[in-house]
Amino acid sequence: MERLQKVIAKAGITSRRKAEDLIVNGKVKVNGKTITELGTKVGANDRIEMNGIPIEQDEPVYYLLYKPKAVISSVDDEHGRRVVTDFIDTDKRIFPIGRLDYDTSGIILLTNDGEFANRLMHPKFKIDKTYIAKVKGIVTKEKIEKLRRGIHLEDGKTAPAKVKLLSADKKRGTSVLEMVIHEGRNRQVRRMLEAIEHPVIKLKREKYAFLNCDHMQPGEYRPLNPKEIRQLL
Ligand code: URA
Repeated sequence: MERLQKVIAKAGITSRRKAEDLIVNGKVKVNGKTITELGTKVGANDRIEMNGIPIEQDEPVYYLLYKPKAVISSVDDEHGRRVVTDFIDTDKRIFPIGRLDYDTSGIILLTNDGEFANRLMHPKFKIDKTYIAKVKGIVTKEKIEKLRRGIHLEDGKTAPAKVKLLSADKKRGTSVLEMVIHEGRNRQVRRMLEAIEHPVIKLKREKYAFLNCDHMQPGEYRPLNPKEIRQLL
């Protein structure tokens, strides 16, 4: 048995806080009866409705996917392009936790557990994400210092990043950087590198917290094990 607000949040429809408001305001029914008391416990066989819409209580599942490039971080695409959920064989309604750009490859997590996803994406969790970026030009120490200190973007200054120059190819005029950031702004790594005049040629997310997709091929996935799930929270 679990608390009603938790079950609603887990279904991914809304946050636990909003679920509480809906319950108090008489918008939630359990087995046809309106429940306004917070903390009411429900089991897997109870029928829950929110604003008249039934809520599915599905067993939670958690996957790690090595997203190839040219794939959308979404559950469907109006232009028929490939989406991350196409790679995973499940009958559960899973969705990606956060996003990687269409052209970015690397690790992405998927789940049907809305509360788990909301927690991982909350800025206060500050989950480190490690990116490997191949960029145009030879990146100097000064530019690396700039990235480390934080870059002024249109949506504000970025938090300090951990940055390492992994290699520089003088002949081709390219560099490879490792960057660790915990914020999850839209196209953040690409915009930070554009701001220092080293546009990204290729971008991969190597790590999400302690998880990586080493020894996996693009398009491969695996379920997270219970220890990994616990460790993320
Ligand atoms: N930063 C980016 O610019 N792109 C991504 O896909 C992820 C982080």
